[in-house]
Amino acid sequence: DSIVSLKGMGKVFHTKNGDVKALDNINLDINRGEIFGIIGLSGAGKSTLVRCINYLEIPTEGDVFFEGKGLKGMSELQIRRVRRDMGMIFQQFNLLSQRNILDNVCFPLEISGVPKPKARQRAKELLNLVGLLDREKAYPAQLSGGQKQRVAIARAVATNPKLLLCDEATSALDPNTTGQILDLIKDINKKMGITVIVITHEMKVIESICDRVAIIENSKIAEVGKVEDIFADP
Ligand code: ADP
Ligand code: ADP
Repeated sequence: DSIVSLKGMGKVFHTKNGDVKALDNINLDINRGEIFGIIGLSGAGKSTLVRCINYLEIPTEGDVFFEGKGLKGMSELQIRRVRRDMGMIFQQFNLLSQRNILDNVCFPLEISGVPKPKARQRAKELLNLVGLLDREKAYPAQLSGGQKQRVAIARAVATNPKLLLCDEATSALDPNTTGQILDLIKDINKKMGITVIVITHEMKVIESICDRVAIIENSKIAEVGKVEDIFADP
C-alpha cells in the first residue's frame, strides 16, 4: 500500500545560463507507515525531489500520486488540501521569530480553522510530546538548535498530516542532538502512524532510522532497497 508514488517524474529548471535537469525519470513508491530515506551528494536533486512531492515545485515530466490521486490535474484548492496532509521540516527550522513557541505551533491549526482555545490546547499537547511544554512562552531565538527543531516538528505534525517530509532536518545539529531529534522522528512515526521521508547527505541518519533508502545520483535514482541490503558490508 503506497502513500506516495512518483511516476516518470522529471524536473527541468530554465535558467539564464540554460536548462538544468534536476530530476530525471524518478520512479518510486513510498509505503504507508515506513521511514524512507533519500541520500545523495549536494546538488544531486534531493531538495527538488521533496519539493516536488508537495508541489512546491511542479514536475516538468511525469507526476506525483498521493494516495493514488495524481496531482497534475488538480485545482489550486485541491493541491492545498493534499498539502495539509504533508508536514515539512527544514535544516534551518523556519520558525516565526516574532511569535513564542506556543503560537508557532498554533499557527497551522489557526490557518486550518481550528478555534483558538482548541488550537492552544492541541499545541500544548504537542509541546508536551516534544518535551518543551515548560518553554511555551519562549521565543525561537531563546532556544538551542535542537529545541527549535523540536518546535518545528510539533508544528509540522499539529494538523495530523499523513506524511512528514524532512529536508536535511539534522544537518545543522551536533551529533548528540541529531540522535535525539532522530529518536523523536521515529517516535512520531510509531505513535502517530505518520509516514516519514528523510532527505540527507549523512549515512548515519539513514542507518539509524530508515526502513528503506534510495540513493540519488546526478538527478537519477541509482538504487532502492532495504537499508541493510543497500549498505551491507560485502
Ligand atoms: P540537493 O538537495 O541534492 O543538494 P537540489 O535539489 O537542491 O539538490 O538541486 C539539484 C540541482 O538543481 C542543482 O544543480 C541545483 O543547482 C538545481 N536547482 C535547484 N533548484 C533550482 C532552481 N530553483 N533554479 C535553478 N536550478 C535549481
Ligand atoms: P538545498 O541544498 O536545501 O536545496 P539550496 O541552498 O541549494 O538548499 O537552495 C535553496 C533555494 O534556492 C531553494 O529554493 C532552491 O530551489 C533554490 N536554488 C538552488 N539552486 C539554485 C540555482 N542554481 N538557481 C536558482 N535557485 C536555486
